[in-house]
Amino acid sequence: MTSAPPPLLSIVIPMYNEEAGMQLLFDKLLPVLASLTQHWDIICINDGSKDNTLAQLKAWHEREPRIKMISLSRNFGKEAALTAGLNYAYGQAVIPFDADLQDPPELIPQMVEQWRQGFKVVLATRKHRLGEGMFKRGTAWAFYRLMTKVTAINIPSNTGDFRLMDQQVIEVLRLLPERTRFMKGLFAWVGFSTTQVYFDRAPRAVGEPKQSISKLWRLAKDGIFSFTTLPLRFTTYLGVLISTLAFSYAGWLLWRTVVHGVDTPGYASLMAAVLCMGGVQLICLGIIGEYLGRIYRESKKRPLYIVEEAAGIA
Ligand code: UDP
Ligand code: MG
Repeated sequence: MTSAPPPLLSIVIPMYNEEAGMQLLFDKLLPVLASLTQHWDIICINDGSKDNTLAQLKAWHEREPRIKMISLSRNFGKEAALTAGLNYAYGQAVIPFDADLQDPPELIPQMVEQWRQGFKVVLATRKHRLGEGMFKRGTAWAFYRLMTKVTAINIPSNTGDFRLMDQQVIEVLRLLPERTRFMKGLFAWVGFSTTQVYFDRAPRAVGEPKQSISKLWRLAKDGIFSFTTLPLRFTTYLGVLISTLAFSYAGWLLWRTVVHGVDTPGYASLMAAVLCMGGVQLICLGIIGEYLGRIYRESKKRPLYIVEEAAGIA
């Protein structure tokens, strides 16, 4: 209960169908926390799991009341689940953590140490990505590069959600009202004095990755479209370029007609021009549509997640 003084450390774990790995997770995590302090809590968010995650979390809470649980009414996605967890994380330092043990709990003492030195944010940066395919590594690399290029904020590459944040940072994050939660972007956007510790990212301990390719694609789009309007400017530049070419071509056509008279053939060039222009216009409409859709979603002001039940949360 939060009537007690706030814990020193809160760990926030979003969980979607993670029953298989839960035992291992707590077996690894609890000793690390115990070595640091007694005043910790773990906030698990059951993100609409279809397996026994919820029942197991309740059982764990019975055994160890410092393991707390929020259960969402359906699957809202990792970013929403994490937001939910951070909203209930009152530790002086807060660490989001993946249930699959891809991030090593052994790193937590180092992170806490850096935080005690005065840093408000301690990033855990991967040296290597073990157990992830070429495709995932390649796309992740390309995405981070693109993000740094096109957005004003600097999203550190090879850094996931695994990081320590001071409660002061969490308070600021709670104030950010947007529905589109690209957490890595928001984390980077708020700033604060930051340092890094390094580690090797392990393959998933148990089970399959729960973030499907389509979820990751949506996440990548969220990253771009909610942090920069560059695609919109790109449509302007594209328009200027194409208009310039079109006017030059039109001038040339006019000159040719005046000098050499009318010649009828021209089906191929006409068709090519019409189709290309059609395609370019649809792309530009699509880009505008991305922003419009986002404005629409924000304006509805629906809650980011719905809590169905909770245990140990004030
Ligand atoms: N997760 C979630 N909701 C989802 C998808 C994933 O809460 O809709 C959780 C999942 O249980 C895990 C964490 O988010 O604790 C990271 O998921 P995963 O390991 O599948 O993704 P990746 O390692 O690729 O980021
Ligand atoms: Mg994972």
